[in-house]
Amino acid sequence: MGKGITSREEDYSQWYNDLVIKADLAEYAAVRGCMVIKPYGYAIWERMQAVLDKKFKDTGHSNAYFPLFIPKSFFSKEASHVEGFATECAVVTHYRLKNDGNGNIIVDEDAKLEEELIVRPTSETIIWNTYRGWIESYRDLPILVNQWANVVRWEMRTRLFLRTTEFLWQEGHTAHATQEEAIEETEKMLHVYGDFVEKYLGVPVIRGRKTENERFAGAIDTYCIEALMQDGKALQAGTSHFLGQNFAKAFDVKFTSKEGKLEHVWATSWGVSTRLMGALVMAHSDDQGLVLPPMLAPIQVVVVPIFKTAEEKQAIDTFIDALSGELKSKNISVKYDDRDTQRPGFKFAEWELKGVPLRLAIGARDMQNGTAELARRDTQTKETVEQAGLADRIEGLLIEIQENIFKKALDYRDSHITEVNSYDEFKEVLETKAGFISCHWDGTVETEKLVKEETKATIRCVPLDAKEEAGICIFTGKPSTKRVLFAKAY
Ligand code: AMP
Repeated sequence: MGKGITSREEDYSQWYNDLVIKADLAEYAAVRGCMVIKPYGYAIWERMQAVLDKKFKDTGHSNAYFPLFIPKSFFSKEASHVEGFATECAVVTHYRLKNDGNGNIIVDEDAKLEEELIVRPTSETIIWNTYRGWIESYRDLPILVNQWANVVRWEMRTRLFLRTTEFLWQEGHTAHATQEEAIEETEKMLHVYGDFVEKYLGVPVIRGRKTENERFAGAIDTYCIEALMQDGKALQAGTSHFLGQNFAKAFDVKFTSKEGKLEHVWATSWGVSTRLMGALVMAHSDDQGLVLPPMLAPIQVVVVPIFKTAEEKQAIDTFIDALSGELKSKNISVKYDDRDTQRPGFKFAEWELKGVPLRLAIGARDMQNGTAELARRDTQTKETVEQAGLADRIEGLLIEIQENIFKKALDYRDSHITEVNSYDEFKEVLETKAGFISCHWDGTVETEKLVKEETKATIRCVPLDAKEEAGICIFTGKPSTKRVLFAKAY
């Protein structure tokens, strides 16, 4: 590969790493497991944020902000929550450094915190401690709050975007008067995520529920969207939790109902993170570089002029100036790459690597003929097009590309869901084509754990649309009423 990208076939995870770095999305930071998100990568994240933020507001939510630090005692109040997160917490113990007299900077032991602070891995505890002061009666409910923030989970094995020690995300935290309303909210936000990922990222997802084993620590029920990457491994792309009254009980958050009874409040939380960037890269890109869906691409059309003389350049500039105006009025982002420091061939390769959906090349002869050359990143096809009506043509093509990217990922995903009815078949599919494996399971944590130990596959979810079907567990032969989806996952 000329661009120094490992091919997918050679080494999929190296390919992913090469792509993220070479396409200028992010790089590893000097801090273990952390990354620097570079401007091109951050521009994509900002587009995701903008769309999601609007969707949250359209569904009645408002943004707020809570502290980065959580007192350890808060953290311990919900037993299963602390147990789930204990092994990956960063803890602040001191608040000062000092010079030891020999020129070394050391931690000042006299500045030890009375109570340690946890760098938030998620904010349920600090938020529910706050909600206690906000809620008295049913009139104060629901509370529909979202926070855009960074969190820290001390992950042992990290990967750019997919799993980092510090990551960016949003976390919704809602409080409700009834169980029904909280469950409705949990499901509503799952669909907000599912629709967003399918429509904007162009990645098809399966909406489902987690098994007890994979549930969020402190949740009664965890809903998720699961996507399939090009190597047949699954990626959990978003979660929405029904938390029951667990946090309200832990933090003593009660309200007076319409009937005048004192009751605990019902809760949900839901989040998606910069992991979505990883999903975007892994689901569509190829050995030449990124393939970005037009709806999230920071640059949707790049224009490369090809000229020899200043006059030729001048004519192209005038044409592109008018075209850019037209495109901008259609909300299409266009970049005119008229750098004189690089040759057209270099620019083509660079924008291909960066996944720009459409490339328009225009030369002196095109100016005479009233034509231009339009190249699609997704299909890597080129065509000569008329200059007349070009903005409309581009607008139409961007829609077509978005649809094509989704369809390609959907075809791949659908051809990688395999029904099996025995453990031998299960293991064979895992070895040969991977993907989602649809099979019966006896519903126990033990069986799921044993299968995981032997094969590394886990139950990604029980799909929301799973049909009732009498069957027997592939592992224990015990009865089962629904198929679940297993896969190896990121
Ligand atoms: P959770 O709070 O565990 O339900 O996770 C909320 C969201 O953050 C999910 O969409 C996860 O996929 C994502 N997520 C969890 N851990 C990480 C991590 N270490 N890096 C990036 N994203 C993560």
